[in-house]
Amino acid sequence: MAYNKRYDKRKMDEIRPLKMDVNVIPNADGSAMFQIGNTKVIAGVFGPKTLHPQRLRIEGKGLIRVSYRMLPFSVSERKNPRPGRRDIELSKVIKESVQSAVFLEEYGNAVIDIHVYVVQGDAGTRCAAICAASLAMADAGIPMNELVTAVAAGAVGEQVLLDLTYDEEHVEDEDVTDLAIAYNENLDKVTLVQMDGKISDKNMIKAIKLGVEGCKKIKKEMQNVLKKRYK
Ligand code: ADP
Repeated sequence: MAYNKRYDKRKMDEIRPLKMDVNVIPNADGSAMFQIGNTKVIAGVFGPKTLHPQRLRIEGKGLIRVSYRMLPFSVSERKNPRPGRRDIELSKVIKESVQSAVFLEEYGNAVIDIHVYVVQGDAGTRCAAICAASLAMADAGIPMNELVTAVAAGAVGEQVLLDLTYDEEHVEDEDVTDLAIAYNENLDKVTLVQMDGKISDKNMIKAIKLGVEGCKKIKKEMQNVLKKRYK
């Protein structure tokens, strides 16, 4: 049967409820909690600080390092705390997505370390990690050209939809496609597209557009949280 009514009764272009906060880790230079439905992540930013060892320095440019991890209890199956291939890959793509907003040339010899932990996962953890990292960098007072945001879009059968849950990623008897999309609105640049599944060209374009609109909505909420905290 076609998937035309969502399990949680959301509209096809509706994002799950959002909750967020900044300055949640007192010891960090900046931090954030970002929750979308039952996916919840925490990010801490440490730096900018002088990069050691010196050989890692890039002449006249700062470096961003991201470490993404899922906590052992974050999903029903225990996650090994030792970083696996997936953690390494996601750390890399999260870094590439958020650093499009940072003026790295202002941070010669310096490093900004971003640690992101998935406290609870219900799909879309890499997207939530990008949002949390952006919020935490803003909280750290790091000048950026934009708050990079991210959300998943995709298709269940022929139905294109926004912000899939884990259950929607596993609808039986349907081909499910999941696209993680990150967007820098100021540059009008998609800074991440990762796809899992199979989709027609038409639906792929539709899903990316839906994702970009979702990113814009999330950014507004993030701006509100920052304004409230620092009015
Ligand atoms: P991403 O979309 O960034 O890959 P996911 O949450 O889809 O993040 O995936 C993270 C990992 O957690 C995957 O291994 C996935 O199978 C698992 N996972 C996510 N949500 C659940 C859930 N509700 N129940 C069990 N496992 C889950």
